[in-house]
Amino acid sequence: MALNHEQQEEIHVLMVAFASQGHINPLLRLGNRLVSKGLHVSLAITEVFQHRVANASSSTTANSIAGIQLLFFSDGFSVDYNRGSNLDYYMETLGKVGPINLSNLIKDHFHGGKRKLSCIINNPFVPWVAEVAAENQIPCAMLWIQPCALYAIYHRFYNNLNPFPTLTNPEMSVDLPGLPLLQTQDLPSFVLPSNTFGSLPKLIAETFQNMKKLKWVLGNSFYELEKELIDSMEELCPIRPVGPLVPPSLLGEDQNLDIGIDMWKPEESCMEWLNHQTPSSVIYISFGSLIMLSDQQFESIATALKNNNHPFLWVVKGSEIRRTSDGTGGLPSEFLEETKDQGIVVPWSPQTKVLAHPAVACFLTHCGWNSMLEAVASGVPMIAYPQWTDQPTNAKLIADVLKVGVRLRPESSGVITAEEVEKCIKEVMVGARSEEFKNNAVEFKRTARLASAEGGSSDRNIQVLVDEIVSSCSTGV
Ligand code: UDP
Repeated sequence: MALNHEQQEEIHVLMVAFASQGHINPLLRLGNRLVSKGLHVSLAITEVFQHRVANASSSTTANSIAGIQLLFFSDGFSVDYNRGSNLDYYMETLGKVGPINLSNLIKDHFHGGKRKLSCIINNPFVPWVAEVAAENQIPCAMLWIQPCALYAIYHRFYNNLNPFPTLTNPEMSVDLPGLPLLQTQDLPSFVLPSNTFGSLPKLIAETFQNMKKLKWVLGNSFYELEKELIDSMEELCPIRPVGPLVPPSLLGEDQNLDIGIDMWKPEESCMEWLNHQTPSSVIYISFGSLIMLSDQQFESIATALKNNNHPFLWVVKGSEIRRTSDGTGGLPSEFLEETKDQGIVVPWSPQTKVLAHPAVACFLTHCGWNSMLEAVASGVPMIAYPQWTDQPTNAKLIADVLKVGVRLRPESSGVITAEEVEKCIKEVMVGARSEEFKNNAVEFKRTARLASAEGGSSDRNIQVLVDEIVSSCSTGV
């Protein structure tokens, strides 16, 4: 449905995100697609992100990113407050203060005049946004930012639709439509009886118990990646994939458009180092923004990298470098010196550019969904080293559903040995199935691009959303 000029002036979408790179960036990329289809889009984020925007990508000014207006609201804490120090307390306060401040923001920016708000889009970690939308009689959509598989698992778990492990039967396997049989180690940690993760599962539970407040559920995935799963939810509580919401440059679109903000300033010099490596030779290692490896985990990876002798690019965050007398923190003390001709360690990489570089052969990843989608869109096979939340299920998808890599298996003690890391690197780089992993990865790269291109499955879903927003706007539904 084409928008006439009058409608373009009026139809406005407000997206609301919890302040973290992995939550904000997919929304920004969806927002950019809505802008390109003629809607006006704003993103409301907490004030603490205001200073980070200054470091954001090329398409950014102080008040907008890629055509999306940025609006800020207070989460009730000062900018200097360490929000990670007590996440439960922080999320609880945000749940009380957020609705009041967001309602005020809506009043200030959208009431009266031509700026009529026609849709609010939230994500699963700010379920209270749907209540603010309902109070203001604005239709609400949620962008689900994990695989559709997780959406299905949580939906079934929180609505008691299928049996899941219990304290009396903790090891039971779970059989769900559209997925292979899931063992305990394949399930998201939030649904396990041992789950003690506080506020985050509470937010997910609230999201799934309040689905009626949502008019649309969108997924950061694409149909060709999770067909059976998406079909299995059609009758239950449909999810429309609109992704992969990765930088357009990764999808073969505008090479200069890298919509997103960075948690930390990426170490661009590693691109120069990659330029000097042989094609398909480098192991890229990153555990995302939150995971902190233990000394034992550092030791296993470091030993395996030395023994395999492939070039490597390893992201070891500043926060992981514990203060030790020799200054190397978690890394084994002699590692940097011993491997100075083999690889490099950086505190934060320009990951999407790294994954797209022809020198990169495989990605040792914690299986965060953004990282995984970026690897899928780049056609890079993976070695899965999941830690918590959705990551164990994402690892199952890598190894047994998409077949784009292998998963590290811990000893019964839970430890991943250097031998295991070494074995998995070999399997992905030169093993009997390495060609299969590469071919599957390249095929998903192709289908990711098709899904996002004009007329592709995700593009069509975005168009349907736009049409429905427009028609609910004109009918007042
Ligand atoms: N990332 C990055 N540089 C790094 C490591 C990660 O830019 O050195 C980005 C990565 O591209 C991804 C995000 O950080 O978009 C991590 O999100 P993910 O969902 O994978 O993991 P999380 O940080 O939420 O655990």
